[in-house]
Formats: sequence, C-alpha cells, structure tokens
Amino acid sequence: MTNDILELKNFLSIPKDIAIIAHRNPDGDALGSALGLQRFLEKKGHLVKVVMPSESPALFNYLPGFASITVFDLKHDEARDILRKSECIFCLDFNGLDRVDKLGPVIDESRATKVLIDHHLDPEPFVDYMFSDTEASSTCELVYQFIEDLGYELDIDTQIGNCLFTGLITDTGSFKYNTRPQTYNVAAKLKMVGVDDYSLQDQINNCLKPKHLELLGHCLANRMEIFEDYGAGLIYLTREDYAKFDIQRGDTEGIVNYMLMIQNVKVAAFITEQPSIIKVSLRSKGDISVQEIASKHFKGGGHKNASGGALYASLEDVLNLYKRILPKYLPKVIH
Ligand code: 5GP
Ligand code: MN
Repeated sequence: MTNDILELKNFLSIPKDIAIIAHRNPDGDALGSALGLQRFLEKKGHLVKVVMPSESPALFNYLPGFASITVFDLKHDEARDILRKSECIFCLDFNGLDRVDKLGPVIDESRATKVLIDHHLDPEPFVDYMFSDTEASSTCELVYQFIEDLGYELDIDTQIGNCLFTGLITDTGSFKYNTRPQTYNVAAKLKMVGVDDYSLQDQINNCLKPKHLELLGHCLANRMEIFEDYGAGLIYLTREDYAKFDIQRGDTEGIVNYMLMIQNVKVAAFITEQPSIIKVSLRSKGDISVQEIASKHFKGGGHKNASGGALYASLEDVLNLYKRILPKYLPKVIH
C-alpha cells in the first residue's frame, strides 16, 4: 500500500461529508466513476453528494443515484454549498479546474482534502492526492483500482459494477481502443460480481431515436469533407442545422468516429457552431496526437486519440484553420 493510499484509508476511516465532481458535459466515464465511487463511499458510512457542472445525457439514467445528482447549471447555490461544506472533494475524470466551469474557483478556495482520480494527459496539481494514470482506459478502471488498493474490493457489488462497467464501455468504444490488460481484468472482476454487460452494451449503444439517424445521414451526405491527400476528414454543423434537426446536448455523440471507418483516414474533426463558441472534437488513429493539435490550435486537450477544444471565432475561420494545419501533422499521401 502506498503512503497516499494509507493516509487516505486512515482519513476515510471516520465518516465524512464528501463531494464528488466530474467534468462538464459528463459522459459515461464521468458519470459511472462518480456514481460508482459514491455508492462505495456510502457503504463505508460517508455522506456523499455528486455534483456535475452541467446536465447529463438521459441515456445514463439507469445508473444508481443518477436522479440525485446536483447540476450546477440548474442549481448554482446548492452546488456551491455542497462543495463548500464538504470535508473531502473527489475530482474525477478531469485534469484541470477549467473543465468544471465556475466551480473551479470554489474547489480552488476550498480547504477540503482534494483527491484526483483521472486518466487525461497533463494533470494540473490542484489536489492533495493525485491518482493520475494516463495509460488507463478510463477513470472507472482507476476507481476500481483505487477501491482495490484500499483493500475494499469485496464492497464492490453489482450496482457499483454497473457504474464502473459503463465507463469501461464508453471510454473504449466497447473495448475497441484504449484498452490494456488491466482493463479486461477489471471487466472480468465486474462481470464476476454480476454485471450484465450485454444489457449495458445494449442500453448504451442501441439507444438512438429516428432523428439521430436522420441527423447522421445529413452529416454524412451534406456536411462531410474527406481530404484524401492527407488522410483526414471533417464534418461540420451550422447553427441552422442545430435548429432544423432540433439538436440537443448529446445528439451528436459518436458522429466524429464515422470518418475513421474510411480506409487511410487517420484524423477526424467534428466542428460545430454553438451559440457563442465553435466546438471542435478531434479523433485520431495510431501515432498522431490530436491532443497536441487540440492544445496548440483549439485551446483544448484530452487524450492522444480523442481530444477537443473550443474557439471564439466564426465557423468559417475555424474550418479554414483546421484545413490549414492538416499538412503540419499529416504527410501528404502519394497516390
Ligand atoms: P469530445 O470530443 O468527446 O467532446 O471530447 C474528447 C476528449 O477531449 C475528452 O476526453 C475531453 O475531456 C477532451 N475535451 C473535449 N473538449 C475539451 C476542451 O474544450 N478542453 C479540454 N481541455 N479538453 C477537452
Ligand atoms: Mn474518461
């Protein structure tokens, strides 16, 4: 047991008021890790609240505790209050305070014991205890490891298992990328405590409505450009598209990945015109780091093969910027 784990185990041996927070626009890994850790800490006698900067996709409403999440965008004061009253704050699935919006300064000013569990590149040192492993598939994998390191793996029940397995699925594209031997080890142990992974896969991957396929059709038919010379792709959506297809948060999830299904396409961008910003989602295959592209050009970051960022600029300018920088990162293909 490392010193950090030993110290935390002692600290957590007396019931505490604990807050758990994850990144804005929480995904399956943010939600699964937060709600799984919540249920585990509750079993250990703590009073635990989960706070998210913004709303969660309804698709994850099967996770235990989903309905009790406090959303800062909807309840500013309550969310701030929870963080201010907590003796311990767990920061999950994000690497810097700019990822939690206006709750960043509240965490910064808090004198609570802060613990980070995360797998994003370049974590910022804003916590007392940092469990960062950028090789991990997901924060859920690391939460499993954290509980195991504390010596409490027998407390992991089916419900905690459902939470943690959710993040494994969503952050690895159903075990297609980002995996390492430990990922499958954790998956195996979760299956052993009764996780029904087929049912989770079905709930997560087969949850579209007709309008999602219509939007996807529009993206692929009318908004996609493939740059064969560089092995890159681009899909964009305008503000008018958002209105026409009644696009809500989460409706565009996964669209960026389609371009990587094309042979030789190694970098894909999904660029969308939001009310005040242009949001950029980047994905890559193999050795090309979209984390570098996102941080150098789009004020963002993330992982080597999946990153994002946003700029205050016009859609046209951001599209042109993306096209202009491609040659810097991708050698021209000789046909
Ligand atoms: P997505 O493209 O699905 O929004 O995000 C992919 C990855 O990039 C996620 O791991 C997310 O944390 C990271 N990411 C997305 N947008 C931003 C951003 O604006 N800033 C930073 N630092 N990371 C981002
Ligand atoms: Mn994650």
